[in-house]
Amino acid sequence: MKTDLYIDFDSTIVNSDKAVCKIYNDKYSWHKDFIEAKWENHSDWTYSCICPLVHKLEDDPIGKLKEFYASDEFFDSLEFYDDAKRVISLLTEKYKVIICTSAFPMNASKKVLWIEENLPQVDEIIILIDKAKNGYGKSRVAMMEQNSIFIDDHPENLKSTKAQSKYLFKIKQKSYNANWDGKVFSSWKQIGEELL
Ligand SMILES: [Mg+2]
Repeated sequence: MKTDLYIDFDSTIVNSDKAVCKIYNDKYSWHKDFIEAKWENHSDWTYSCICPLVHKLEDDPIGKLKEFYASDEFFDSLEFYDDAKRVISLLTEKYKVIICTSAFPMNASKKVLWIEENLPQVDEIIILIDKAKNGYGKSRVAMMEQNSIFIDDHPENLKSTKAQSKYLFKIKQKSYNANWDGKVFSSWKQIGEELL
């Protein structure tokens, strides 16, 4: 029997911040205060640091960011982190890989279709929709199976479940991922070396 391996999607498997930056740079470059957004400088979930014009110009900045996350441009430009696709393919041979991701009604189906097209070897996807939250917390999925493993880029998601082994996916220190003293993966190459 294979061990259950739960993996988050946004900012863990795929570089969602890079796709958001591309949309921002396409949409706001006309503005006199525009500065090109770089995903490497992303630090807070509202993107106020790298996408300030969303907050300055839009009545509902969070709603606008959700629009980005639900747009065709987002899914068309979405890229895997280095080695993620290759390593996940290999992991599916050894583990029961389950992608466990928060979504909202406008992007949930597109996300599932993107995963099906780009990671067809993953047989199980858990989509969590809690409209009262902004994607934090995965306690609805207790992950109590024996030896279950969970990888996520957000410490609050890791803390909310009972998975036996929890790993923070952390390429870079950000405002929301500092509060974690457990195990950390900083690349998919490292995940492959440790879990395969
Ligand atoms: Mg994430």
